[in-house]
Amino acid sequence: MSEETIFSKIIRQEIATPLLYQDDLVTAFRDISPKAKSHILIIPNKLIPTINDVAEDDELCLGRMVTVAKKLAKEEGIDEGGYRLIFNCNEDGGQEVYHIHMHLVGGEPLGPMLSI
Ligand code: AMP
Repeated sequence: MSEETIFSKIIRQEIATPLLYQDDLVTAFRDISPKAKSHILIIPNKLIPTINDVAEDDELCLGRMVTVAKKLAKEEGIDEGGYRLIFNCNEDGGQEVYHIHMHLVGGEPLGPMLSI
């Protein structure tokens, strides 16, 4: 069994992070250390450590993450200006929390996709 991260506690509201959205499959909340004016994390309620661990059974959940990102982008007022959706995977990808999460970032010009 995979080890839980702080995100499991946020999903269960065992720590008081305000939720922007929650349903049977996904949860969304603001990133604690925003990298842009708007920075939201959308995560599956089920613990999936990395994108490498995603299975066919998870396709509904991953699709829901995208539709929730679209809804939240509109609510944030960043849908027309544009935004970026990012998954980081493992060390080279810069993943810090091993419970997959989609970053929704925007609210300002984001610059080039990568700066290495
Ligand atoms: P990643 O580098 O893709 O694993 O991203 C992990 C993200 O989780 C970082 O942007 C962190 O700022 C964010 N983060 C870590 N702990 C919390 C927390 N308790 N509440 C909200 N965001 C968090």
